[in-house]
Amino acid sequence: MTDDCIFCSIVAGDIPARTVAETDEALAFLDANPMSPGHTLVIPKAHRSRVADLSVEESRAVFDLVHELAPEIAAAVDADAHTIGVNDGPDAGQEVPHAHVHVIPRFADDDGGPIHVAAGSRPDLSDDELDAIASSISGE
Ligand code: 5GP
Ligand code: ZN
Repeated sequence: MTDDCIFCSIVAGDIPARTVAETDEALAFLDANPMSPGHTLVIPKAHRSRVADLSVEESRAVFDLVHELAPEIAAAVDADAHTIGVNDGPDAGQEVPHAHVHVIPRFADDDGGPIHVAAGSRPDLSDDELDAIASSISGE
C-alpha cells in the first residue's frame, strides 16, 4: 500500500471502483475513463510499479485473472475482440504508477488500431542487428 497511489486506494476501499473480479492477489475493475464499453483494468493488489516488479506469483495472479475475465468481458458487452496491453513505464504512456493490464473490448466497426501503432513507425533493422538483439535478450 502506497498512500498516494490511486489504485492502492481502490484496493483499500478508500475510493470507489466498479469491481468486476477479485482474487487473493489481484483485482479487476472498470476503467473510469474507458476506451470502449467494458474497458477493464487488472492489477496486483500489492503496490508494484512495473511488470518486472511483480513476483512470479503476482504475475500469475494478474494474468490468470486477465485470462479468466477476457471472455466474460467480451460476452458482457458483445465485443468482437480485445486489445490487451500494458503501458509499462512512463515512456510507454503509463500514467498510474501501479502496474495494470488494460483489457479493452474491440468491435469490428470501431475506429481504433492495432497495438502495432504503440511504438510509432517500425525501425529498419538488419539481420545482424536482429541477431545481436536476440542474443542480448537471451544472454547467449
Ligand atoms: P495508464 O496510462 O497508466 O496505462 O492508464 C491508467 C488508466 O487508469 C487510464 O485508462 C485511466 O482512465 C484509469 N484511471 C485513472 N484513475 C482512475 C480511477 O480513479 N479509477 C479508475 N477506475 N480508473 C482510473
Ligand atoms: Zn499502488
